[in-house]
Amino acid sequence: MIVKTNTIPPLFLQQLESLSHRLPPHHEKYGEVIRKYRMHAAGYAGEKSLLYPFRYINSPHAIFFDLRLRDSIQHYFQMDALLLTPTCCIIFEVKNISGTIYFDPHFQQLIRKDTNQETSLPDPLSQVKRQKQHLSHWFISNHFYHIPIETVVVVTNQSSVIQAPSTHNDAYNQVVRVENLLGKIEGILGRHQEKKLSNKQLTNIKKSLLDQHTDYCPTIMKMFHLKEDDLCKGIACPQCHHKSMYRKNGKWNCIKCDTTSKTAHVAGIKDYALLIGHSATNAALRDFLKIESRHLMLRILHGLHLPQTGAQKNRMYSLAPFLSRNHEFPRTIRDS
Ligand SMILES: [Zn+2]
Repeated sequence: MIVKTNTIPPLFLQQLESLSHRLPPHHEKYGEVIRKYRMHAAGYAGEKSLLYPFRYINSPHAIFFDLRLRDSIQHYFQMDALLLTPTCCIIFEVKNISGTIYFDPHFQQLIRKDTNQETSLPDPLSQVKRQKQHLSHWFISNHFYHIPIETVVVVTNQSSVIQAPSTHNDAYNQVVRVENLLGKIEGILGRHQEKKLSNKQLTNIKKSLLDQHTDYCPTIMKMFHLKEDDLCKGIACPQCHHKSMYRKNGKWNCIKCDTTSKTAHVAGIKDYALLIGHSATNAALRDFLKIESRHLMLRILHGLHLPQTGAQKNRMYSLAPFLSRNHEFPRTIRDS
């Protein structure tokens, strides 16, 4: 059973996607943003490919995708996927990397060889080892004891060639292609037959994991040393992405391709929430979305039923609902 799904991309990937649409292609940081976006998008695609083998696990279990927890020493750690069963749990680190990947145990690095270049990447085996230590601390500090933790590195790119020296036992024991993942999981569960957790304890752990999860949502503009004026402002056309939609007859109209939309403002405000801030005034949003009319902006904001503080021109609207996984917005604005 999937307790925490991966149907919606992680917030950091959403931030990178939004930034890649808002930053002009001639900007000096554009290449860096696109590279990072593609890397995280590939990672997310890799994580999604775990859904299929997970569907066929026979034993009782709970699956959490993209969990980010604070361990006992006040640091965050993140796991691509976690499988929890009454007998043990398994941490999965997912790698969606093309080319030949070589697990180098001596320098603890992953060497990626492509047609004409070699790149050194962080060693996934060291990464899962650290995650296991963090999760073990987390279990103890939350008063869950004696839960065996196993680790698996899943290679999801079907074209990648996996290599490791024959003496590298960790690579041979823990690295698996996604096609063979189900067999690997069954093998691990077969080795852990003794029940360590009651149903009540399992329910408590599930609740604690969900309660203590925090999405990674950094101040992305600061991360790339960008200013708000570096971005293309305006409401983006859902068809051609041009950012100059104007309001006419109760709809947003694209100046470039004539596409109309009733909801294009929602994506625009979400971009603001992802890139600029988690709350905003009417004036700040008008500047970002290039909406001249204060009253139109007011109608949009009222229509979205956002939590608000302050009064008059200092009124701040919370944009937190735009960052929430389950929030559904009203789709239309009353124009009169
Ligand atoms: Zn358009």
